[in-house]
Amino acid sequence: MPGEFELIARYFTRAARRAVLGVGDDCALLQTAPGMQLAVSTDMLVAGRHFFPDVDPFLLGHKCLAVNLSDLAACGARPLAFSLALALPEAKDAWLEPFSKGLLALADAHGCELIGGDTTRGPLTICITVYGEVPADAAARPVPTQALLRSGALPGDDVYVSGTVGDAALALLALQGRITLPTELLLAARARLEQPAPRVALGLALRGIASACADISDGLLGDLGHILERSHCGARVDVDKALPLLAARQAYAGGAAQFDNAYDARTALQSVLAGGDDYELVFTAPPAQRSVLAALSDTLELPLTRIATIEAAPGLRLVDAQGHAVAHDFASFDHFAATGGLL
Ligand code: ADP
Ligand code: MG
Repeated sequence: MPGEFELIARYFTRAARRAVLGVGDDCALLQTAPGMQLAVSTDMLVAGRHFFPDVDPFLLGHKCLAVNLSDLAACGARPLAFSLALALPEAKDAWLEPFSKGLLALADAHGCELIGGDTTRGPLTICITVYGEVPADAAARPVPTQALLRSGALPGDDVYVSGTVGDAALALLALQGRITLPTELLLAARARLEQPAPRVALGLALRGIASACADISDGLLGDLGHILERSHCGARVDVDKALPLLAARQAYAGGAAQFDNAYDARTALQSVLAGGDDYELVFTAPPAQRSVLAALSDTLELPLTRIATIEAAPGLRLVDAQGHAVAHDFASFDHFAATGGLL
């Protein structure tokens, strides 16, 4: 078993590239470019709360960084670097090696450099801070930035969701033994839970197009709710447009009986609207951007689905295709609510 410094040297130290100074000193040094702002975000993952303690360490390494890159994506920031704070019950090579490989493979894919961190003994906890860059915009009000913010949505704007949502929540229900999914469906859903793809390219492309943006970590309605709150407006959500966002539902569109045996329609709706952990983006844009967004969807080979309209009246209104109100009591994920946590 490696000691603390051997562990850092073996698994978490590489030559600095973009950073002026990387791992090994009391501070790392990052040079910001003129006219750019540093975008900073932290996410912590705790064993038993955010992941099963026996999850594949390679996938865990990927996911820990992915959830952080997702925050940069939501701001339209380009990833630069990250730091890693690790609490480990024991320093086992059999865990550290695949964990660091999964982590650094995603870091390399996004040109995001590991520049420092802290390592201590303790209950398995992984805390990452990411640093990204985004152009300043002195003329922008009220925040002088080109970053995408949660504020900025206006009545009449369209609301879009990238990719598919709800499948990660389904996988979690299946892994907890609360529903049964056919093998093929479980594999696909599990990949969404364990290997989310941060939508960095989409976030960058949405600068100057989207009026507001957030990533979906706690559930579509909850994260859209954050946009509404910060933008002081409401939204009318077309549930029949949102439901097909569940990839599992599309896969079984031709075999409804099989689908309905696996889990009921309410579970599907709950997963789409309130399931977390998908790390897609929810964003708003004026209708004048529809053709631009259709072209962007083609370029990125990523569905961008229009599911709602921003309205001046605060609150979320769910309607079906006929415009009839749909009752809902879907709470988004809250770690301090009675139902918070994995186990
Ligand atoms: P300090 O005592 O100043 O907190 P440490 O002895 O904890 O520094 O860490 C030594 C060096 O190793 C520092 O540059 C720190 O950023 C880096 N480091 C520690 N843990 C990690 C880690 N998990 N990943 C990357 N770098 C790390
Ligand atoms: Mg330290």
